[in-house]
Amino acid sequence: MNLAAARERLATVPDPEIPAVTLVDLGIVRDLRETPGGVEVVLTPTYSGCPATELIADDVRAALAEFGDVTVTLQRAPAWSTDWISAEGREKLQQYGIVPPQCHVGDGSEQAIRVLPRLRCPRCDGGKTEQLSRFGSTPCKSTWRCIECGEPFEYFKPF
Ligand SMILES: [Zn+2]
Repeated sequence: MNLAAARERLATVPDPEIPAVTLVDLGIVRDLRETPGGVEVVLTPTYSGCPATELIADDVRAALAEFGDVTVTLQRAPAWSTDWISAEGREKLQQYGIVPPQCHVGDGSEQAIRVLPRLRCPRCDGGKTEQLSRFGSTPCKSTWRCIECGEPFEYFKPF
């Protein structure tokens, strides 16, 4: 069993909701280890009740099938935080048109929303932006608009 090859393969699995970034970029993959019959992957779901969790586990099993039996273990503590998104992941999000979390705002998305960050437009880099909606295509994002180029964009809320 080539654990390095398995690690490389795992690093190519995209997030089902934001295919521009991988599970490793998002910091969801906590560990990969060898087991007697294959590999075990430890994942921390992005937030509790995320419907993508089962999908992510299936994608990981399919990607690593050639390495033997794949055990997916969900580790819910410590809880995933947007702080775990890698520098590379943040860059990919920005290029994809989603502004990555600007700071960590502790426990609540409520608080994170009330203290609105100063966001720069991911398309024209303009500094004049406004929030259109507290929710985006998924509950973890909010919808914004750039006043300078008029384009809407999404912001990945810190939590
Ligand atoms: Zn703009």
